[in-house]
Amino acid sequence: MIYSAENIFKYCPKCGEQNFLLLPKEGAFRCGACKFCYYLNAAAAVAALIVDENKNLLVVERGREPAKGMLDLPGGFVDIGERAEDALQREIREELNLEIKQFSLLTTFPNDYPYGDMLYFTLDLAFVCQVRDFSKIRTADDVSGYQFIPLHEIDLDLFGFESVKKIIEYFKNSSTLQVS
Ligand SMILES: [Zn+2]
Repeated sequence: MIYSAENIFKYCPKCGEQNFLLLPKEGAFRCGACKFCYYLNAAAAVAALIVDENKNLLVVERGREPAKGMLDLPGGFVDIGERAEDALQREIREELNLEIKQFSLLTTFPNDYPYGDMLYFTLDLAFVCQVRDFSKIRTADDVSGYQFIPLHEIDLDLFGFESVKKIIEYFKNSSTLQVS
């Protein structure tokens, strides 16, 4: 695995020494002077698979970098101290003004998330969600638009993240599509 952070962290954040080296096998940086250790971890993120009564998938257009202008599933990062279930409901409320009635975890995929000069690592948790009322839908937060697309017509090349492409592919091949 390539950690771009190798090029970002030049000094130990604890003692300031320059001898702060990546140990790729351990996925961690260690300071040669004070022995401070910093582990690289994946951040948790949630993604929502929402279909309407005609089996069209709700996808959003990204309003910000990374992958601005590309398609995405609604969702976002889980805050520190927050349950993934609560992050899912919060993100869908923030981005689309929709209330999720029921949801279940379908699958997970890791992702690379370049932001600023850093490459972050995420674990994307994909939930199949039921929304009964789409009448109040509107976009906000980091979403610039939305579309309902028939599952068989979805062009994965229009999506910005590899994990999301895999989630949609997995969803198309799964029996949970029967969830209405
Ligand atoms: Zn140090």
